Amino acid sequence: MRYFILFGPPGAGKGTQAKLMVEKFEFRHVSTGDLLRREIKNETELGKLAQSYIVDGQLVPDEVVVKMIKHEIVSNPDAKGFLFDGFPRTTEQAESLDALLGELDHQVEKVISIIISDETIKERIKHRATIENRKDDADEKIIENRIKTYHDKTEPLITFYKEQGKYVEIAGEGLIEEIFEEISKHI
Ligand code: AMP
Repeated sequence: MRYFILFGPPGAGKGTQAKLMVEKFEFRHVSTGDLLRREIKNETELGKLAQSYIVDGQLVPDEVVVKMIKHEIVSNPDAKGFLFDGFPRTTEQAESLDALLGELDHQVEKVISIIISDETIKERIKHRATIENRKDDADEKIIENRIKTYHDKTEPLITFYKEQGKYVEIAGEGLIEEIFEEISKHI
């Protein structure tokens, strides 16, 4: 089983690239943001809990997302591979993922990181707010918090995966097709 991580700040284009990667490589796309939004839409207890963090631009607790990821992995044993999008976002989540895959004698193959500037993050998110109806995209304060959360909690994972020799970085400000071509070289 192959496991890839699509990494990068909010608005980097992870969702867009994930769609193309899934079409080409037939991986199972696992976006923790999408899974949480589904829980919110279905008004579950988990959804209510998640919403309280998301509307503040904060991360949902590690144990919540790790549990969702575990469920995705064990309930899809026939998948060709997994593409994690928006997960892991903290060192604790990355360590839990390593432990989880270790139990199966599997491991993360590569972390493909799409990098854009903070200015581009803001422009992209505001643009997305006009297309998708995401409350956390429409509010300047939430966007600022998400950028800060990315730098404080998620960016340290770059060192974590560099040390494992799995980290690949791609400039995310070009054309969608060109970025996809770059990504494909690493699969
Ligand atoms: P995304 O769609 O990936 O931008 O995620 C939207 C929001 O969901 C984030 O701002 C977080 O509040 C929450 N979220 C998504 N993935 C995670 C994760 N791996 N860990 C914690 N919170 C997450």
